[in-house]
Amino acid sequence: MQSALLVFLDGIGIGKEDYQNNPFFKYKFKLFNNYFEDIPKINNEYLNSKGSYIFPTDAKLGVEGFPQSGTGQTSILCGFNAPAFVGKHFGPFPYSTTIPILESQNIFRHFKSHKKNVCFANGYPKVFFKYIKSIKPRLSSTPLACRLSGVKFRTSSDVRSGKAVTAEIINSRWNQRLKYKLPEIKASTAARRLLRIASENHFTMYEYYLTDYIGHGKYDGNLESAAAILDDFLYTLLSELDRSNMTLLVCSDHGNYEDLSVKTHTLNNCLTISAGKHGERLASKIKNISQIKHELINVLK
Ligand SMILES: [Zn+2]
Repeated sequence: MQSALLVFLDGIGIGKEDYQNNPFFKYKFKLFNNYFEDIPKINNEYLNSKGSYIFPTDAKLGVEGFPQSGTGQTSILCGFNAPAFVGKHFGPFPYSTTIPILESQNIFRHFKSHKKNVCFANGYPKVFFKYIKSIKPRLSSTPLACRLSGVKFRTSSDVRSGKAVTAEIINSRWNQRLKYKLPEIKASTAARRLLRIASENHFTMYEYYLTDYIGHGKYDGNLESAAAILDDFLYTLLSELDRSNMTLLVCSDHGNYEDLSVKTHTLNNCLTISAGKHGERLASKIKNISQIKHELINVLK
């Protein structure tokens, strides 16, 4: 079975060579230093190594201002220019007039209507299930798209049994902040679980957004360990991907994390990584975030 795995990292762009403010330079990422043997930066945005590709993706989409999560993620999931449709970049939640499009055009719905198995691999805690039963829950684009398309949300039991991955990868924040008693796992273990989940479905999506929190200066943890967790996770995904049967795309909705000197998003291109069966084609075809859905559909044709 051919599979596609989409890993969405909120707020990751390709920034300057800045050892103070760009975590990709400040911290030792084995993803860059060992795997790609180079760190992507403005004016050196294309790298490839061992059949994996780093390339830039435009999130501005011809609309002025800083790209935002609501319109950006909707563009990714639905394959259209949401900021042009709305007339501005908008976030963090999807803009009201794009919600019907998010419902009818999202990539999960597309694959479901073509008889493909889909999976949203994030595990959600109990509070989330309570929250979505409240009168008017506000959900970000991916959970909203899933909810509107009947895609199952995975639970803490799924996390416990290795059938889901928490949005923070290693489970420690669930234990500290939500009082769970989950086994803390290595980021590499989480990556292996995600690869296994992806191999059991045609299309799997996982999302991680601490990078955006960190970029906004809202993260209360240690930045170096957060970087190491993300690094180990991505490095393992690339190193252990089943390249004959799977295609991996790591994408983002706007820059932020790559420039910690400002608390806002940036105008930088998004950092994008592709690998596996159709990795090379994704790297050559995707120029902006509104092309991601279409190219992922082609992967599973
Ligand atoms: Zn975002």
